[in-house]
Amino acid sequence: LRVTRTPMSDADQALAGHAWTLRDVTQQRLAEDMRDRFLTTATHELRTPLANIRAYAESLATVEDIDPESQKRFYNIIQSEAVRLSQLVDDLLDVSRMQAGALAIDRREMDLARLVDEVTQKVDASMQEHCIDFRCELPPKYPKVYADKSKLAAAVVNLLGNAAKYTPDGGRVTFRVEASDNTLEFSVADTGIGIGPDELAHVFDRFFRSDDDRVREIPGSGLGLSLTQEIARLHGGELTVDSELNVGSIFRLTIPLEEAG
Ligand code: ADP
Repeated sequence: LRVTRTPMSDADQALAGHAWTLRDVTQQRLAEDMRDRFLTTATHELRTPLANIRAYAESLATVEDIDPESQKRFYNIIQSEAVRLSQLVDDLLDVSRMQAGALAIDRREMDLARLVDEVTQKVDASMQEHCIDFRCELPPKYPKVYADKSKLAAAVVNLLGNAAKYTPDGGRVTFRVEASDNTLEFSVADTGIGIGPDELAHVFDRFFRSDDDRVREIPGSGLGLSLTQEIARLHGGELTVDSELNVGSIFRLTIPLEEAG
């Protein structure tokens, strides 16, 4: 509560008393907290990839006789850092849309088999890079799905990407797609670092990142799960998690299989 006191004077300019104003500033404080976290995250998460892009581009431009192998490696770093940047910008935009209640989905009949292909291909490289045993358990027959394909794909990629990020090398990630009569479920189980009970309640909060050093050394904005949860909700579904510290996590995204409209 914010209390302000304003002196009031009468017609002769003599002090006649004070007007007291009481204002609930909780919302304002929350908005300020959010803005601070937004700025810290944006600054840190934008700076690192930008610095890398500059450094590697400069080397390519100025260092003579770079062997072709290093040259290729530098180009790849520049490219992946640029992808990371545009992902961050997209997430920040989606989060501000979400805050304004303006994150919308475009539900249509979509090809689930294709979505599954696309998302697995997208995360395959990072699974391989970390020597993760990546298993897919897919249904024999895909149901008809009405959903926003690109948003749903982004949500699933985010869960798989997190599993790859937070699972130490040599671990296992199992991606399962299951359809019952009226529900479609994507689940992502990992044998990773897990999440402790205190933090589990906060993983879907905007900008939340664990205090665990193993998380802190990995780049991230803390936006992915809040957006993924919102995408599930916009489809009338939900995102849930079970996790045990140092054992692993399982995230489940379910959406109802009903016809649009
Ligand atoms: P980011 O990965 O960018 O930090 P997210 O919103 O995707 O943001 O995740 C929020 C936090 O939840 C992560 O920082 C991490 O602490 C925790 N988390 C998410 N997925 C996993 C996972 N598969 N295993 C362990 N911790 C996870």
